[in-house]
Amino acid sequence: MRPILKLAPGTYINNIDNSQIIIDSVYNTYQDAKPALIFNLGQFCSYCEDAYHQPRDLHVEHVQPKTLYPDLETKWDNFLLSCATCNGTDNKGSKDVDFNEIHLPHLNNTFKSLVYKAGGVVEVNPNLTGLSLSNATNLLNLIRLDKTPKNSCPGDTRWRKRSDDWNIAEIYKKKYNSGTIDIDTIVDLVKNRGGWSIWFTVFKGCDEVRKALIDEFPGTAKDCFDPNNGYEPIDRNPGQPDPV
Ligand SMILES: [Zn+2]
Repeated sequence: MRPILKLAPGTYINNIDNSQIIIDSVYNTYQDAKPALIFNLGQFCSYCEDAYHQPRDLHVEHVQPKTLYPDLETKWDNFLLSCATCNGTDNKGSKDVDFNEIHLPHLNNTFKSLVYKAGGVVEVNPNLTGLSLSNATNLLNLIRLDKTPKNSCPGDTRWRKRSDDWNIAEIYKKKYNSGTIDIDTIVDLVKNRGGWSIWFTVFKGCDEVRKALIDEFPGTAKDCFDPNNGYEPIDRNPGQPDPV
């Protein structure tokens, strides 16, 4: 899951109509924060990473559910962007979220929390231990990115999109390595399809493509990747009990 960096309240940004707006710490309604979230994070679901071309298809996601924390309903710090599927998994809207017990894309290096594989597979990183392992597992369970037809979730097709993304990314990696396409083509394709983490995984070894995927996607937390080691993920919060 792409680690993201939320802009601080008080930051001036360009609105959809190119007027200047400021990021507020509190909004009149949570829906009012959507243009700022899209500017900050791009038109992608913060969880499944699918691309959405119409703002109406993305929800302002409450990290801590507004049903349990009504005082956080309109606060910027509590927002991400989510598609309808990720926002509607199981009883997520009423599940308590304790930041000490879960990894989240705006607080942790969630590219290190999960691993992506061919066939639409998403798993907890097997190299994690202790609290990191537990918190990454809680992230996967909250969003249920591991749902497939095999575990009785025929209506949840996020796995199929990931599988397609993986196959297309492999095809385009071959094209890139043979010199028939350039980096801009890959960036444009990922912006249109989404699936950032899959492309970043498949393009391991192509440092210049990984760099572009970090630089060209709004809100990517650049400090989560080591430019001296192939842009592999590194701890986001060193010295903290749960450093991932
Ligand atoms: Zn989603």
